[in-house]
Amino acid sequence: MIDFTFTDEQELFRKAAREFAETQIAPLVPKMEETGRDWDPAIKALCDAEMMAITIPEEYGGLGLGYVERLIALEEIARVSVATAMMMQVGALGTAPIIVFGSEEQKKKYLPGLASGKHFATVAVTEPSGGSDPKGCTTTYKKQGDSYFLNGRKCFITNSHIADVQVVMAVDEENPDSFSTFIVESGMKGFKPTHEEHKVGMRGCNTGEIELKDCEVPAENLLGGEGKGMRVAMTAIGDVGRGGMVGCSLGLQQACLEASIKFANERILYGKPINRLQAIQFKLAEIKIDLDAGRLLGYRAASIQDAGGRSSNEFAVAKYYTAEAAQRAAKMAADIHGGYGCMEEFVVTRYLRDSFVLGPSAGTSDIMKVIISRWVLS
Ligand SMILES: Cc1cc2nc3c(=O)[nH]c(=O)nc-3n(C[C@H](O)[C@H](O)[C@H](O)COP(=O)(O)OP(=O)(O)OC[C@H]3O[C@@H](n4cnc5c(N)ncnc54)[C@H](O)[C@@H]3O)c2cc1C
Repeated sequence: MIDFTFTDEQELFRKAAREFAETQIAPLVPKMEETGRDWDPAIKALCDAEMMAITIPEEYGGLGLGYVERLIALEEIARVSVATAMMMQVGALGTAPIIVFGSEEQKKKYLPGLASGKHFATVAVTEPSGGSDPKGCTTTYKKQGDSYFLNGRKCFITNSHIADVQVVMAVDEENPDSFSTFIVESGMKGFKPTHEEHKVGMRGCNTGEIELKDCEVPAENLLGGEGKGMRVAMTAIGDVGRGGMVGCSLGLQQACLEASIKFANERILYGKPINRLQAIQFKLAEIKIDLDAGRLLGYRAASIQDAGGRSSNEFAVAKYYTAEAAQRAAKMAADIHGGYGCMEEFVVTRYLRDSFVLGPSAGTSDIMKVIISRWVLS
């Protein structure tokens, strides 16, 4: 038998995550949206509530929970703020390679601070040369004495200006086939966050560029061994980054459903609420069908991962489905609102903007189809 139920502990965890999101994050959203910055209080709230500690093993100060719990938390936080969920998800994406590939010294040095919120992380892979083609990486590394020197530019990096621990992928200056990842601290010489993006959606989430100019990284900060960087980065993005985006998308879909039901119950046309119109009911049904299907796909992948398996392919399916479904849900939610769906005072306009940003992050829908087709053909 396949058990589709959450445990009592997971239900309690969801309740606590929802209460946290509604009481600690929701009040911060208007300012984050208005300024496109002001993310510090949300980051502090995430850290204080141990949201950054969920999947970090207990021996390093984390909660030692699984990817199902991470998905639950992300769904609940994205339901009130996709921008906050995005910063949280990429924070964990930057932490995961240290958990999986880090040496004991690296784990002891970085994980307790990442669990407590003293430090915040990200992964920097994408470059102006194109995120879908990580082998086109032009950021180089060169070993000299006991240090590596990194040179290049990374773009579209979530937490670029917040993270003080960045897992950076670079290519050997002398061997274009050798990619390596490094734990770069923001205080290291030659590291500089530069341009901040102004995105159409997820406005309160920090996204920007980083510059590495003869950035000196101690040799002990090489992560996972020289030449293993592509595996380190792709495992993290495949298993953790895509799973995180699923949580962001599911939370947004749930928010779209709730806003649509509320408006459909309150809006009176022809003397009755529009929830009586079948065209409106069908849109609500379609959002719900997509949401349930996406949840099954997402929690399937997270459960495989918690059972010790690899779930990159299953997460690719879930990421594709939920990112596309979130756009459909946001469009239908705005449509249900009629003219109000174009007015900024109505939250569905934020959902519509946020839904566009879910697509490219952690790989576009086209790239998900490339991965999925490779999987079925193999
Ligand atoms: C909000 C946000 C946050 C992000 N955060 C991070 C982060 O923290 N760290 C990080 O490293 N990166 C991050 N990214 C980058 C993200 O991973 C890339 O945007 C993504 O991989 C796409 O790369 P690109 O934007 O360069 O598009 P391109 O790779 O230039 O793609 C352009 C178009 O070509 C299509 N395409 C490309 N290859 C194929 C193919 N083989 N078959 C069919 N179609 C194809 C794409 O689907 C797309 O439509 C973030 C992006 C966004 C928008």
